[in-house]
Formats: sequence, structure tokens, C-alpha cells
Amino acid sequence: RSGRSAALRARMEERLLGARFRYLNQQLYTGTSRDAARLFRADPAAFHLYHRGFERQVRRWPERPVQRIVHYLRRRPASLVVADFGCGDCTLATSVRNQVHCFDLMPLTPQVTVCDMAEVPLADESVDVAVFCLALMGTNLQEILGEANRVLKLGGTLMVAEVASRFEDIRAFLKAMAQLGFRTVSKDLSSSYFYLLEFAKTGPARAGAAPGLRLRPCLYKRR
Ligand code: SAH
Repeated sequence: RSGRSAALRARMEERLLGARFRYLNQQLYTGTSRDAARLFRADPAAFHLYHRGFERQVRRWPERPVQRIVHYLRRRPASLVVADFGCGDCTLATSVRNQVHCFDLMPLTPQVTVCDMAEVPLADESVDVAVFCLALMGTNLQEILGEANRVLKLGGTLMVAEVASRFEDIRAFLKAMAQLGFRTVSKDLSSSYFYLLEFAKTGPARAGAAPGLRLRPCLYKRR
């Protein structure tokens, strides 16, 4: 009998965690990157809960997007300096020989520099590769990608891995990226889970709104 009630309690706790994860996730996708920074600063436990939920989600996928970026970097010179925006547990940094600057809102590992990705402590044109792996969460996308543009060298690479269902109109998105100073080099839309996009920095962002730069929030279903 006590075994049954323990199992019941465990199941209730799982449900509660799932509900809190979905709520946090929704907040992250519907506010700015600054709101996210404020949220986790006020409630560090929420960050750990979010990450547990994130891990559970991506474990269901046949392939982790970050592994694709690892493979990409391994084919390129290890001398390239990388910035990982929203690095999570630093899987990228620990899987390649490159110097990787890791940025996130909380330090899951000691390698992380804690900051809002809209404002990273790097000099202008100081990195060769900027990475957003499932990390374009804030609604201030233009500002965030502008920051990546700032720190990238001319001709540098921007890698974006994002949940496929977030793209409303991929052509409009890529057009907006061109306006932000990023030429599309390759796009892999073959996975039904995520898209992998590679850009090259052509110059600074052109002024003005970029209306095609829209991503749907990634809202997970209750399971
Ligand atoms: N890139 C990692 C983690 C993806 S989860 C991977 O692929 O495994 C998204 C990460 O972005 C989370 O760790 C989250 O904390 C971080 N993030 C979200 N908003 C951020 C912000 N405004 N500034 C920095 N990191 C942010």
C-alpha cells in the first residue's frame, strides 16, 4: 500500500514538474531575453527545473542538434574562435578543440559566462563562429542577432539550429537574415525536428525593421 502511494506521489511530482517546465518555457519564448535574465536571477531554482525539462524533451529526439554543430566544427580548423549563445551544459565547448566562449543565464558549468545573450562581453569582430543551438528564445530576435553580428568577424559563420515548427516562413526568415547582414550558406531542412542554418556575415545589419524575422514560440505539449 505504501508502495502504491509512493508511486502515486512520484507521478504527481512528475506532472507538477512538467507543468512548471511548460510554463517557464512559455515565458522564455514570449518575453525578451532581458525578461528571461530577470526571471532566472530572481528564481535560480526555476533555471534548473527548466533544464531538466529541456533535457527530457531533447532526449526524445533521434538526434541532438548540438551534435550536428560539433561535427560541423570538427571539419573546420580548430583555430576558429567560437561563441556559443545559450550554451546550456557546454556540450559544444567540451566536444571540440576550439576556444569556445560559453554564454548563458546561469552557470550549469564553471565555463559559463553569465550574461544576457543580447549583451555579451566580447569585443567587436572578435569571433569566427557564432552559435545559437535551440537558443533563439527571446522576442527581441533582431537585437540578439545584431549582437552576434557585432562580435563576428567579417565573413565569419553564424550557425542556427532551431525547432522546425517555429518557422512560419523560412524564405521570409532568410530574407530578413540578409538584411541583418547574414548571407545563407547552407540550410538543412531534412530533419522534422530541427532546421540547421549556416550563414556568413556580409557586413553590419542594415537599419530598419525586418518583418520576416519571426519565430513561433516552441510550446511543448502535455504528455
Ligand atoms: N545550446 C544548448 C542549450 C539549449 S537550451 C544545447 O543545444 O544543448 C537554451 C539555452 O539558452 C538555455 O540554457 C537557456 O538558459 C539559454 N538562454 C535563454 N535565454 C537566454 C538569454 N537571454 N541569454 C543567455 N542565455 C539564454
